[in-house]
Amino acid sequence: MVEESFLHKGLRAKLVEHLATKGITENAVLNAISKIPRHLFFDSSFLHFAYKDIAFPISAGQTISQPFTVATQSQLIEVKKGDKVLEIGTGSGYQTAVLCEMGLYVYTIERQKVLYDKTKLFLSKLGYNRIKFYFGDGYKGIPESAPFDAILITAATEIIPKLLLLQLKIGGKMVIPLGTQKQIMTRIKRISEHDFETEKFGDCRFVPMLTGVNG
Ligand code: SAH
Repeated sequence: MVEESFLHKGLRAKLVEHLATKGITENAVLNAISKIPRHLFFDSSFLHFAYKDIAFPISAGQTISQPFTVATQSQLIEVKKGDKVLEIGTGSGYQTAVLCEMGLYVYTIERQKVLYDKTKLFLSKLGYNRIKFYFGDGYKGIPESAPFDAILITAATEIIPKLLLLQLKIGGKMVIPLGTQKQIMTRIKRISEHDFETEKFGDCRFVPMLTGVNG
């Protein structure tokens, strides 16, 4: 299924260079982005947007995050090969694929049934067979598979989901866009059973994290 061309490879190399100049230094992240055919995550009529550093609408009123945002979140979780990561908001699956290419064990939750079905099938066709897909409300996490080395939230919340914090390992990190209209990229590290440390990393914009499921 993977249709590759020199053109796409060239455009990807340019995107990676652009991300590096914007401050992405983690090799595992840049390598992952240089490998993933992002154009296949778009409808054919929008192919020329695939390697621009912009967010773009996908089905069910959702968006595929901007490459810089995906790279930033993937870098901020500070993980190593073999770590276990929970992603909230599967969406197009692009961020999921990046985490998988980084050598992580990825668990991902989506609340919209159409996206869950479509992306699960699509990523398995691309050969990403190690990902565990869940249809459900990400606020609940996956208690039976916890604790996680990292939790990456790709939708905006006003408050920090407590249930998810408790699914982090001690030393584990959650990266979350916090806020309403505009968000601040926030990293929360679990430093002991009951203590957490918070750091902020600038403005960002995400679709809202909603409760319950759709479909
Ligand atoms: N990671 C995605 C970003 C998609 S946009 C990508 O790279 O394409 C955010 C996604 O979060 C949407 O698909 C939305 O349906 C989903 N979402 C919102 N609230 C959620 C929740 N409570 N649980 C799981 N997914 C949620």
